[in-house]
Amino acid sequence: MSDKPKRLCKWKKGDYKDHLDELRELVADAKYVCKHCGRSANDKKALCDPAKIAD
Ligand SMILES: [Zn+2]
Repeated sequence: MSDKPKRLCKWKKGDYKDHLDELRELVADAKYVCKHCGRSANDKKALCDPAKIAD
């Protein structure tokens, strides 16, 4: 098991596998998208350049 980086943007391939449950929670009902990485999450703190998807 590897330690999970704080931001989803910093996760590597192995992190998704090791922290799948956390990933599910982060991306479920995503409210933000990262303008830099194209990832999405419901917590803007998980993204390095978050933008709101919709109200
Ligand atoms: Zn990012």
